[in-house]
Amino acid sequence: MYPSTTTQGGVNKDYPQITFEAGQAKSIKSLTLNRFSNFLGGHYASHNLSSALVTTRTDASSAVKLEVWSPKAGEKPSFEEAKRGKYRATKKGERFGPSWSNHWFKITLNVPKEWTKYERVQFEFDPGCEGLIYTPEGLPIHAIVGGTDNLRRVEYVLSQKARGGPHHIYIETSCNGMFGVPQGGAEIEPPDPNRYYTLDSADLVVPYLPAWHLMWSFNLLVQIAQNDSASSPLSERALRAANDIINVFEADDPERTIALGNKIAEGLLGEGWQEEGEKVWEKGGEKSKAEAKLWGLGHCHIDSAWLWPFSVTQQKVARSWSTQVDLMSRYPEHRFSATSAQQYKWLETLYPLLFDKVKGKIEDGQFGYIGATWVEMDTNLPSGESLCRQFLYGQRYFKEKFGKICDTFVLPDTFGYSSQLPQIARLGGSKHFFTQKLSWNTINNFPHTSFNWVGLDGSQILTHMTPVDTYNAQADFGEVKKGANGNKNLEATGDALYLFGNGDGGGGPTPPMLELRRLRALGNNNRDVPLVRMGNQMDDFFEHLRTSTDNGTKLPNWRGELYFEVSRGTYTSHGSIKKGNRKSEILLRDVEYAATLATLVGKDKAYVYPKEQLDECWENLLLCQFHDVLPGSALEMVYDDAEKYYAAIFKSCSTMLEAAFQALFPNSSSSLLDASSSSSGKIFGVNTSRVARREVIEVDLDAKKKDSALRASVAQVSKDGKKGWLIVDAKAGEGVAEVKGVFAETFEKGVTAKDLGGGEFSLKSNSIELKVADGRITSIFDVELGRELVPEGTTGGFVIYQDIPNYWDAWDVEIHHLQHSPKHLKFTSVSVKENGPLRASLSVKIQVGQSHIEATVSLDAIGASLKKDARSLIRFETEVDWRERHKFLKFELPLDVQAVDATYETQFGTVSRPTHRNTSWDVAKFEVCAHKFADVSEFGYGVALVNDSKYGHAVEGQTMRLSLLRSPTSPDATTDQGHHTFAFAIYPHVGSFLESDVPQVAYAFNSPIHLRYLKESSSSSKLLASSIVNTSFTVEGARNVIAETIKRGEDDDFTVDSFKNGKNVIVRLYEAFGGHAKATIRVAGLNVVSATLTDVLERPVGSALLARAAGLGSDDTLIDLNFRGFEIKTLKLTIGEKFSSRDKDSEWVRIERR
Ligand SMILES: [Zn+2]
Repeated sequence: MYPSTTTQGGVNKDYPQITFEAGQAKSIKSLTLNRFSNFLGGHYASHNLSSALVTTRTDASSAVKLEVWSPKAGEKPSFEEAKRGKYRATKKGERFGPSWSNHWFKITLNVPKEWTKYERVQFEFDPGCEGLIYTPEGLPIHAIVGGTDNLRRVEYVLSQKARGGPHHIYIETSCNGMFGVPQGGAEIEPPDPNRYYTLDSADLVVPYLPAWHLMWSFNLLVQIAQNDSASSPLSERALRAANDIINVFEADDPERTIALGNKIAEGLLGEGWQEEGEKVWEKGGEKSKAEAKLWGLGHCHIDSAWLWPFSVTQQKVARSWSTQVDLMSRYPEHRFSATSAQQYKWLETLYPLLFDKVKGKIEDGQFGYIGATWVEMDTNLPSGESLCRQFLYGQRYFKEKFGKICDTFVLPDTFGYSSQLPQIARLGGSKHFFTQKLSWNTINNFPHTSFNWVGLDGSQILTHMTPVDTYNAQADFGEVKKGANGNKNLEATGDALYLFGNGDGGGGPTPPMLELRRLRALGNNNRDVPLVRMGNQMDDFFEHLRTSTDNGTKLPNWRGELYFEVSRGTYTSHGSIKKGNRKSEILLRDVEYAATLATLVGKDKAYVYPKEQLDECWENLLLCQFHDVLPGSALEMVYDDAEKYYAAIFKSCSTMLEAAFQALFPNSSSSLLDASSSSSGKIFGVNTSRVARREVIEVDLDAKKKDSALRASVAQVSKDGKKGWLIVDAKAGEGVAEVKGVFAETFEKGVTAKDLGGGEFSLKSNSIELKVADGRITSIFDVELGRELVPEGTTGGFVIYQDIPNYWDAWDVEIHHLQHSPKHLKFTSVSVKENGPLRASLSVKIQVGQSHIEATVSLDAIGASLKKDARSLIRFETEVDWRERHKFLKFELPLDVQAVDATYETQFGTVSRPTHRNTSWDVAKFEVCAHKFADVSEFGYGVALVNDSKYGHAVEGQTMRLSLLRSPTSPDATTDQGHHTFAFAIYPHVGSFLESDVPQVAYAFNSPIHLRYLKESSSSSKLLASSIVNTSFTVEGARNVIAETIKRGEDDDFTVDSFKNGKNVIVRLYEAFGGHAKATIRVAGLNVVSATLTDVLERPVGSALLARAAGLGSDDTLIDLNFRGFEIKTLKLTIGEKFSSRDKDSEWVRIERR
């Protein structure tokens, strides 16, 4: 018991008959609550508890010697380099800058002799910005988060040894805050390039620990008084206790009155709770364990780049993780978790000593690596193959460094979740998924906490979204209540994850957060306080969730995408980054295919598969897919870096592709310049898309050379003689594509462009006619069917919307942008550019504001694919000089097509989304993500919009829109300003989407045929008959199955790349339309000695796999595969040197049965 200051006088034996006392005042809760804010800091700091937090402090030069070395701004020296820096004396009050610069402090500490009696001595160093403490050996040991807010972390506790004599440390400070250096009040404002920070503190300090404990207890009591329902007994008790603590405290008698205060707190926390230490978590035995439904886990969400560049993230990782390693020794129950293989790799490369420490803590089970992927990537925009590689590179790294892959896939902060993630995550070795971002939805409240998330193909993954609605919790009472009461699946389970810790350089959990022990002590003594449990990793939670819900069968299922009802602008912001991503994905696919072939059938025996360069390209591409980079929501500095990565990928891939082509086609050249000036030789194409196609390709001509090889190949020449068009035929869908002469039928059909007068123009092939009148598209007419596609009275073309989101500028486009009257832009100048016979085109121009749009609208004589009834593509090759701010440029097309749903391409498949606004869930999808195409179809007919680098789409009612360019100004003030080129096309097709070949056409649109030139015509015929041409991986029997990726096996030994060691080819295929398929993979020209189905990590899965020889007279191998709708299959083929003595008489050969 504690003496009460509110009870005066003794207890009377009998109830007195008469009183003239005033009596107790009725407690007025609001006034008491208001009083609490005066007990810490503020105006009364020298009279309240804050006055007792520090026993003594010194900054005497005998105790603290400070020296500093400032490298040049923009430099980030390693520890070893910094150690050799030229240091000079410095002192508190000195200012350091500018923004992003690093400064190294060499510090010598001498603890005064008379301080030996104190329990704890710490060094308090506050540079106002971020910092990292190192030992003289270069081991990072603790973070500094300077500044004044509640995220401040400036104490470094000295060990007994350090207190014994001169103690040396280094501190690297970096002139940025946790969230960069935003210019204005809002955190997402562009950075101030010239921010300076003052060294506010560099003191040796003796904290008075009982005062700190009282402060933490007091804070908890206040949280309860504020957060528990107003009239609850617990809230009343907490209110009274906190009030009593203030009443007993005397600033001039701190020791005694703080002890009294701590005693008062024990009234709620339990007597002697503090001495129990970490044992507090075990109190109550098994019963309490079962009741403790909130799984507390330390976490630190570090954005791989956002309001700071990648190089700063590397420092944030070292700061945060070193601090956690330190805290683990002080709080044994503490478990910490962190994601992103890339961040571990940065640590391994840049901070190897700390990496070893972390590795030790991983082995002890205290440090949990989670997430499975390379970075916490966006999942709307990356291709299916990219998502597979996120897992492949992430899981392989974790396995290699720490012995085991991750069971739990973690993406708490990504802007929506693709419906293919369950399948890809499961194929990537993960069984569980943690997220929370959907709690940000602004229209609909997502109905589940724990559920089975079922993807497009039926794959499921056990998913949990913390009911605390954050992954940066602060370990306070309100959150714990929310975690217990906000669980939406209490009918099945109340278990929930509770992730606390400051992310983004805040260093993860702080010591006060780990004083969460208080909350458990409170729960041990109060039945109505939810119990938290500690000491577990995320995998433990999910394993418990799985078993306690009978393998998830007690939980609801959610099928399809987890659409995020915010951040829809991220499909479009930063067009050049989106383009860099798409082009890199396509290029890497081409390189892997060509390089694989080169190692199997290349003429150059010295050719080596460029695994290391490919890995480097992939890792950089995957890094740029981070959830604030590819979406366009980072700083300009980040995009400077990303553009460099894309340029490096482009350069490296171009070199690799050329090397592979040289190995395959010696003496051929990618430069058509020679072909344009020489009259001998042959042009041929390489089709890396594996889509059978016949195409019109535009080439540059030497206007003066009329008899060149190139000129001889073209069937149409521009008026100025500088451009030509030729037809390339890759009918087989594989390898070498031949340049064809003009087919008689083509000439017969032809295509024309006409100026019809009065501002009216037309492009007409035998299948499609496009009309432009008064600067807008007024008609798209299917000539064969006699069907008009543009509804009467409507027009198509470019349109500009005002784009002013409520706060998150680069992220959001709000539904109200559609309400503000859009500007339907007219082509101000239209002219006939080319007039067939292969390609006809119009040149159109638009001047709007300070911006300029130019497009070549063209139509080919031939259909967009080899499908018999394929219509011609209407192409828009677009160039924009974009100078708008807060404007949104789109292309819109009204269509006379009746459909309640539209089809959008996603990773390895498609998703349907409504074209109407029936429910609030439908309304929310007014802007959605699609990859290479979106399609709207009715019975018998449909129209697709295909694109080469855009992702934002909408089909609302009868209008289809493709989002082209935005222009937000924060966090990057220059987003999308300047020059852009992109292409898109309208593809009308007979039959609905399911009957169409839209996916194949979109593939071809994105994967140009690589034209090459052979000087010697004589060698060309030999070449085109060679084994290269005859080597192929063809899908037969199922037009709905597409072979996406062909690459070499990850585990192949490329240092001794020989058939004896085994050469493996990985073929990744998928079902593209959402139905079953029986496909046969025909492998021609290779000796397949075994065939296995694997997961994305290339580990064998599934049962027997039969392959058969094609039959008499053929060396081809046939592999039969059954697919379910949208299923992804990975096939691993082991290739032998030459054909074995396979018994060609037997039709079926079992290559492998597992
Ligand atoms: Zn984030």
